[in-house]
Amino acid sequence: MSSSNTSFNELDDIYQDIILDHYRRPRNKVNIPDPDLFSRGFNPFCGDEVTLMIKLATENQIKTIAFTGQGCSISQASASILTELIKGKPLKESMEISGIFRNLVKGLAIDDEDLDKLGELEALKGVSKFPVRIKCALLPWSTLEDAISKNKDL
Ligand code: ZN
Repeated sequence: MSSSNTSFNELDDIYQDIILDHYRRPRNKVNIPDPDLFSRGFNPFCGDEVTLMIKLATENQIKTIAFTGQGCSISQASASILTELIKGKPLKESMEISGIFRNLVKGLAIDDEDLDKLGELEALKGVSKFPVRIKCALLPWSTLEDAISKNKDL
């Protein structure tokens, strides 16, 4: 399948609304000066950029997280949802959510309990049908994993 110009019409309407809302009004899109964890990700296939900045509450728990970036709506909505979802969460739980989301966008079956942990991220499951878009959706999460793993062994 070659869908380099996937349009929103190919995704479900309700999911499309969530994605566009996060794209147009991104949450936590600010700079955090002097972050405890930091990483910058780039998706050369689409030109997406995401920088994540994290302040820790304890060495194992996120206090606040913010992002800056530019790119397609899928990558930027994924980053916005990420910041809302893992704010205040333990690092280990953040990595678990990242793993579940990775399976979702690859089109693997997710049980209900795990799906609950994804919240609005479920809106991005449609990208599993468009391989080119999977990298867009995963970019913020790969960047998160990089920020955490550079600093910690979980
Ligand atoms: Zn993209």
